[in-house]
Amino acid sequence: MKQKRFILNDVESFEKMSDEINKDALYRKCEKCLIQMVVPMQESPFIINHLKFFKENIPKAVVIGMTNHGALSRETHSIDCIICTVLFFEETNFKLDVFDCSEKTPKEVGAEYINMLSERENVRGILMMSSDIKLCPEKFIDQIYTFDERLIVFGALAGSNEMGKNNSIIFAEEKIYDRAILAVSFEGKNLQITADYNLGWKSLGKELTIDKSDDNGVVYQIDNIPAFDVYANHLGVSKNPYFFENISSFPFMIRHNGIYLARIALNYRESGALEFAMELPVGSRVSLGYAKPEYLLAESYTKSREMMNFRPEALLIYSCMNRRMLMGDNLTETEFSYYEDVNPSATWVCGYGEILHTREIRGLLNSTLVAVGMRECDSSQLPEKYQYSERGFYSNQEPIFIEDIKNDEKYKEIIKDLTRMEIIRKEGYIPLNDRLINFLEATTSDLRDAVNMLFKAASLDQLTEIYNRRALDFFIEQAIGNFGIEGRVALVMFDIDFFKKINDNFGHDIGDDIIKQVVNVIKDSSGKHSVLGRWGGEEFILMVKNTSQNDVVNLAEKIRKKVEVTNFIPVGHITISVGITFMDNTDDSVRLFERVDKALYQAKKNGRNCIRIK
Ligand code: GH3
Ligand code: MG
Ligand code: MG
Repeated sequence: MKQKRFILNDVESFEKMSDEINKDALYRKCEKCLIQMVVPMQESPFIINHLKFFKENIPKAVVIGMTNHGALSRETHSIDCIICTVLFFEETNFKLDVFDCSEKTPKEVGAEYINMLSERENVRGILMMSSDIKLCPEKFIDQIYTFDERLIVFGALAGSNEMGKNNSIIFAEEKIYDRAILAVSFEGKNLQITADYNLGWKSLGKELTIDKSDDNGVVYQIDNIPAFDVYANHLGVSKNPYFFENISSFPFMIRHNGIYLARIALNYRESGALEFAMELPVGSRVSLGYAKPEYLLAESYTKSREMMNFRPEALLIYSCMNRRMLMGDNLTETEFSYYEDVNPSATWVCGYGEILHTREIRGLLNSTLVAVGMRECDSSQLPEKYQYSERGFYSNQEPIFIEDIKNDEKYKEIIKDLTRMEIIRKEGYIPLNDRLINFLEATTSDLRDAVNMLFKAASLDQLTEIYNRRALDFFIEQAIGNFGIEGRVALVMFDIDFFKKINDNFGHDIGDDIIKQVVNVIKDSSGKHSVLGRWGGEEFILMVKNTSQNDVVNLAEKIRKKVEVTNFIPVGHITISVGITFMDNTDDSVRLFERVDKALYQAKKNGRNCIRIK
């Protein structure tokens, strides 16, 4: 396959593009080619004219595209140009489908789409675009995921040249759509697709909870105040036309599957609600994010080097406008140049959101740079980690961490360049912005340390340094609230047998020491992810998530035996009794504790040194 990139700003450039394509040997050979066009103006007649031009002059081309804030590419800082990517394939077939969503929801058309996909063979990936920020097409992507989780879905949400305005459109062949989703499925036995994304934003400060939101991407309330007030309080932003410019470098950070994702508000409402291009469900925890250009560039550099291993014949990049806002033109071009090192025809698309779905990451992104590499080749020609497997095409190699790359010569150059290009630094002078960020990071880190110390003091038992009863209560209440999310949850209660005798025979201090020794045995045997606390005197509770009856009984039995065979100096051999119960959906903490207590009581009644389940 082959990729060509064209920047169109006048009639001549259109004609040149048509000439070049018509002369291309691969174009002559192939049955059809795909043109992806990104247009920074919303005037429909204008776009229709372009589409007609392609139909007449490049008849084999299937044209798709969208409007955006401005096409960005290496050759131009101007945002008035149209950027076209042409993909020629040798063996791969592709099919274009467009779903008008003025009457139907993304979920409904997603269901239609997977029916269509089920009749296609060797589908390797899907390029997707959508228009209308209120459409929230994530549910369309979810449908594809349920159909085949290995499929890579990528693309962008259309934008408009006035930030925050919802007059975006997408187009396909000779039609334009203001509320629709388009999908191009790529089908080919030897088609390889890999995709990755960079974020570079970090979360800062306290986590806040979304209290009120809807599935159209509107967030009404966060932490009991109107969503807008979070920005007003933290950034001093007021309701004015510079809203997007003021907040775009501080996206909300939300954790999904342990990964941080950024969410940028595109607009505010007078009522104080914020509008996003994706749903932020009630109960989600968010914090504000921040970045430095170095973080973004360093991540792009490492990820682009990784992409080099794949040797893509085509490289499509979907990036967020706020990267350009944060880095400025020069650094954004530098970021792009790392990807041009990988493939000189790489093209860059900027929308109101990036689309990337792989097994690790779901759906719609903000603030990222999504890079999609494609090639047609026998899989044996690729480095092993990119070979087709049950896990899909993406790399399963551990990410390269920024720390590891700091010795890389080019990376050092980047950091030097940064200083040269963007900032006029005198010897030893640190620009105000950087000083402010350093200050913010340092004070946040101090605060986090202080909070951690307070948390420790308030939640750890002084004698044993495991959680105290208050903390146990908190974690168990939390698990009850999350019922069903964390798999089967078991509560295991341990009580030392005949402990009073130890106190009587050896004294209270030795008694204390035995309590500590028993806790160490339990701690060493229970997994890192379980929660262990001191319930009372010589009674301990272990909460185990994502478990089964078999596993918990085995674990408890292992601990019981270990205690039995240990020589607890100076007391000698002692035993423990164990009660076990499982959380069910009707439990509150009182019922749960009653049950586990009863189980323990039965173990005691049964002669001690044994386990009972209730
Ligand atoms: P059983 O087998 O029925 O559990 O008998 P037991 O003697 O262990 O009875 P129980 O669990 O009811 O008694 C626990 C005793 O532990 C009561 C109390 O004197 C003692 N104890 C409670 N907290 C502490 C502590 O922090 N240090 C010490 N040394 N002893 C404690
Ligand atoms: Mg006891
Ligand atoms: Mg007891």
